[in-house]
Amino acid sequence: MAESGTLHDAFLDELRDAYDAEKQLLKALPKMAKAASAEELRAAFEAHLEETKVQVDRLEQVFASLEEKARGKHCDGIAGIIEEGKSVMEESFDDATMDACLIASGQRAEHYEMAAYGTLIAWARTMGHTQAARLLQQTLDEEKAADEKLSGLADDGINQEAAVANHPSENGGETPRAVSKKAPSKRATKPARR
Ligand code: ZN
Ligand code: FE
Ligand code: FE
Repeated sequence: MAESGTLHDAFLDELRDAYDAEKQLLKALPKMAKAASAEELRAAFEAHLEETKVQVDRLEQVFASLEEKARGKHCDGIAGIIEEGKSVMEESFDDATMDACLIASGQRAEHYEMAAYGTLIAWARTMGHTQAARLLQQTLDEEKAADEKLSGLADDGINQEAAVANHPSENGGETPRAVSKKAPSKRATKPARR
């Protein structure tokens, strides 16, 4: 099915782009987790790393459903977003500000992925690739949830904390700690399986 210059070819190209993007994120997410101070933010990046591993496998299933070999094609878009995130991590921000910036970087990545998967799903449906569309929808749902999780963490205290740290006079000079700091002892341990 090597029809050239068709929407199907563009679809395969975009799938390869997404496959490469997810693989780039597999490397970036651990660094973002490490740079995060707030426990919940670190946990969110770590959880999304695990989801991303599943998303890579899922894209391999999509390729298989199309009888295509899974392969990536360098994704310049996500590379740029990751590069910007790296620059931010090199800055000497206070912890709360760094967390707010990590959320901003993470959300850029999620929105980029949401745009990519949204297009892939629409194209897959148009061409009748229903299994591919179903698999891609699962990933899109995870990307949306990851984005909402980051918005929630920002709204639940990280942005406020960063603002208070920088503008004490305008906020009463107190530093609320709505989000707990990195503390190994506080880490939620998974209940043992029986
Ligand atoms: Zn097709
Ligand atoms: Fe992803
Ligand atoms: Fe993602």
